[in-house]
Formats: sequence, structure tokens, C-alpha cells
Amino acid sequence: MSKRSFLSHIDERIPKPNLTEHVNAVFILHDQLNLDVWPSWIREEKPLLIFIESAAKGNALPYHKKKLIYLLSSMRHFALECAEAGFPVHYHSTQNHYDPALEDLLSKNGDLNLTFMTPSEWDSRERLRKVGSDYNDRVEEISNNFFLADPEEYKDRIKDGWLMEYFYREMRRKTGYLMNGEKPEGGEWNYDDQNREKLPEGHPVPTIAETEPDEVTEEVIEMLEEWFSDHFGKSEEFRDAVTRRQALYRLNEFIDERLDEFGPYEDAMVQGKYDLFHSHLSVYLNNGLILPKEVCDRAEEAYQNGNARLNSVEGFIRQIIGWREYVRVYYEAMMPDVRDANHFNFNNKLPEMYWSGQTKLNCMSECLKPVIEQGYSHHIPRLMVLSNFSNLTETDPRELNRWFHLAYVDAYEWVVLPNVLGMSTFADGGVLASKPYVSSGNYINKMSDYCKHCEYKISKKTGEDACPFNYLYWNFIDKQRETFTQNGRANFMVNMFDKKSDEEKKAVSESSVDFLEDVSR
Ligand code: FAD
Ligand code: SF4
Repeated sequence: MSKRSFLSHIDERIPKPNLTEHVNAVFILHDQLNLDVWPSWIREEKPLLIFIESAAKGNALPYHKKKLIYLLSSMRHFALECAEAGFPVHYHSTQNHYDPALEDLLSKNGDLNLTFMTPSEWDSRERLRKVGSDYNDRVEEISNNFFLADPEEYKDRIKDGWLMEYFYREMRRKTGYLMNGEKPEGGEWNYDDQNREKLPEGHPVPTIAETEPDEVTEEVIEMLEEWFSDHFGKSEEFRDAVTRRQALYRLNEFIDERLDEFGPYEDAMVQGKYDLFHSHLSVYLNNGLILPKEVCDRAEEAYQNGNARLNSVEGFIRQIIGWREYVRVYYEAMMPDVRDANHFNFNNKLPEMYWSGQTKLNCMSECLKPVIEQGYSHHIPRLMVLSNFSNLTETDPRELNRWFHLAYVDAYEWVVLPNVLGMSTFADGGVLASKPYVSSGNYINKMSDYCKHCEYKISKKTGEDACPFNYLYWNFIDKQRETFTQNGRANFMVNMFDKKSDEEKKAVSESSVDFLEDVSR
């Protein structure tokens, strides 16, 4: 039985094009929704635009429901805007992947030529290149313009371990952001030493605007509930922006209300508050609704106008022209072999709590809650809590990578994989990060108020009610000492462990064995 169509708003508002009348068509993927970075002939000549919703792609992983709602609703809104702007639009839905649909289109319409932009993700790229090779003279691939750095320029250096900090300085010089000639604004390249404050109790945090779903989004939600009801996360209370206009409103709101305090509280975590002063813009940047350049332009302008402090603006611009661009080049340099990376050879499944959010560890429960509800958390919960715990429980990093990929609205393989297999789990053996990201409960206690609300005692190092991060951390250092001793910066941790008494070492080991045996996977 064929499935019910959920495209009534598209069908009503986009006239069906006569495909045989067209000579040039452009295929636009769900994360390429901005014509400003496509070649100018497309804006001028208005060729046929092709959009494909692929159920097979949506089912490749049990993606968070809000992620699918966001991706499909913003693609539908974009197609509607293109049609209103006078483009002929072919909006197609298939149970299959998009390449058979494109092959079909090309075979049935012999005069049609197709242009596509290099997909940011490996598998989509392979699929489209196969279409290209089957219809060689009729398919053109153009380079991906949604990023600022050309991967070819940096790939080899990054593969050889070139650090983000040096890449970032080169990007500052190239883009001119916060530069005085050859010198960085304020004399330093990086003001992170001013960006590690805990949020004082009662400190006001502005709220983020919410967008009520319109009828187009409502139809996507209905489809989600029928076709993808067993997927991860909640679909209720979907409030993300789904058009460029709405996303620009969010950008303005961030620049005006949160950028100034972004820096100092960048690493802070607070019980019941999940966005703090973060931009929440990755979702819009990653499918093209807003562009990295316009975000950085606005941030620099806020600094020049005296509306945001230097350490905040520098920290924010570094995330975009530094980290974001760096991980994308890393992906280009390391794929596809890096998908199998597992430096520590961990093969445990992901603890069950990542799916249910149910756990006595308050920090884990607090960091999982916004993921299950919204498909979002800021960087420090991802790195210093969720990844840290996965490392300490000796979980297969590829399992963690799969979870981050399906659970977050902003996750695409080019960005999630480097962050998980490179940065947070050290699975690549140290190409991206200089040491594994593991820490005891002390870090979480320093940057949050979580421990005050926890059943475990942060002050206890071992034993039943001790904070598990405390003993699991030393257990990790001891068991992975070979990796730490090879690294000058982390060697002292092994020395510290070795100085503990035999009794302390035994207690660390026993508490860890008990915990690791009990953790449900
Ligand atoms: P802000 O804190 O406001 O930062 C501003 C912007 O900088 C972000 O919107 C993002 O575009 C960019 N940025 C910052 N850090 C990074 C980084 N390390 N890599 C790439 N871009 C960065 N980011 C994603 O976009 N998608 C992911 O799937 C993703 N997975 C991650 C998984 C792990 C384990 C870790 C440690 C980080 C991951 N990140 C990912 C990076 C970062 O955590 C998110 O970009 C950020 O939390 C998004 O929230 P925000 O927009 O409020 O960011
Ligand atoms: Fe997390 Fe340990 Fe603090 Fe509990 S005591 S919130 S488990 S760091």
C-alpha cells in the first residue's frame, strides 16, 4: 500500500513544472538552502530547481524527531520562497534515496542537464557522483561554497596534526576579522583566560525567541508522527526558526542580547538552564539559512560599536572561522578511514541512559534532558559531560558518534564526526586533539551547580556514594597510561596516580569495576 502524501501545502502553492520544457536543472540538498552562495547564473536565469525528500535518508538513523521536522520544514519553506520568486520548482518525495529519483528524472527527460553542489557529507557525495558518472555529459558538479576555507589549502597540514590555533590565526589574517593590520585586536589572538567563569547565582539570562509552527511545519509534524514515530526525542513544542527571515531574527537577538556575555559564561552550566549566552545558531548555519560570514560580520560590528566586549567577540568568531572551518577541513582530510577510528579499542555499547535520560548522576541527567527534548545542548555538556562519561565508561567511540549524529538537530557527519572521533574521544589517536578529554567530577563542580543537586557526593573519591567521575577518571588514567605518558602535557596525571597509596589505588579500581559492571547498556 502506498503511503499517504503529506505535501498538500507544497502541491497547492507550487505549480507543477512541465519537466520536458526545461534544459537546465539544479538539485538543492537539504543543507544548501541559500541561493546567495550559488553561482550568479542561477539567480539570473532561474533554471528548474529540484528538491527531494528521501525517506531512506531520514531513516538511515533514528534521527531526533525535531531534527527531521527542522530539516524538512526549512527545505519546504525555502522551496516555497523560490517558487514565489519565480523559479520553476520540482518538489519530489520518495521512499528511496535521492539518487534513483535523479537518475529517473534524467532518463525520462533526455534534454535535461543537471547541476549539483558538492554535498558536505561523504555518502551523499558518493551517490551524486555516481549519477554524474552515469550521465557524464549532462551532470555538472560545482564546489561547495557554504564554507570560508578551501579544504585543499589546509588538508595536508591538518592531517599531519596542525593545531586549530594556527589555522585560526591564518583565517583571522585572511578574513581580517579583529585585525589591526598584521596584529590581532587588543594584542592577543585568544582571550580564553577571561572566558571560564561560573554563572553567579541569580544572574539574569535572556530568553530566546520561539517561532510558532505554521501550517507547513504542522504538516511535517503530522508526517513525522506517522512515518517516524519510533525515532529518538520529542516532537512536541517545536519552536525553531524555519526560514531565513526567522533565522536572521535569531541572529539579531543573539548579537543584541547575549553576545556581550557569551565569552565569560561560555563554559558555564546551570541546573534547568540550557542555552545561557550561547548563540543557538549552529542549526541555521549548518543548512545555510544563515552564512558564517554574515554572522561574523555582525559580531565584529557589535564590538566596533562598543556593544560587545572583545573577549566575547573574539571567542565567538574563533568558534566560527576557527573551530567550525577547521573540523570541516579535518573531515575532508580524514574521510573515509576515520569512520572506523577507535584508538583505545573500546567496544562497549553506549550506556542506556543516553536514550532514556534516566540516571542518578545529576550532571548526566541535566545534560541529556535538553537533548531528548530539543536536540540541543551547548559545547561543554557535549564535551565535558556526555563525551567524558562515555570515555570513562570505556564506550566504543563510534557508538557515541552515532548517538550524537542522530540526537542533535545541528549534526551532520562533516561536523559531528571530527568533534566526536577527533576532539572528544581521541579515537583518531591525537590528530585533532593533543590529549583525551577526560576529567574528574571537579571540573563539572567548578563550572556548574549540578553537584549540589546530586545523590552522589562530589567530595568523596571512592566508595558507593562517591561521584563516579572521580574514581572512573583515575581508573582511566591508570589503564590508558601508555597514551598519557607519550604526551608531555598529560604525563603528570600518570605521575599523580602513581604517587597514590596502594590502598587508594585499590579503592579506585574496585569502585570502577563495580560501577562499570552495573552500568546498564
Ligand atoms: P555557540 O557556542 O554559540 O558557538 C557559535 C558557533 O560556533 C556554533 O553555532 C557553531 O557553528 C560553531 N562552533 C563552535 N564550536 C564548534 C566546533 N567544535 N565544531 C564546529 N562548529 C563549532 N557542532 C555542530 O554544529 N554540529 C554537531 O553535530 C556538533 N557535534 C558536537 C559533538 C561534540 C562531542 C562536541 C564536543 C561538539 C560538537 N559540536 C557540534 C560543536 C559545538 O558543540 C556546537 O557547534 C555548539 O554547541 C552549537 O551550539 P551554539 O550554536 O549555541 O554554539
Ligand atoms: Fe555529576 Fe559527580 Fe557532580 Fe553528581 S557529583 S553531578 S555525578 S559530577
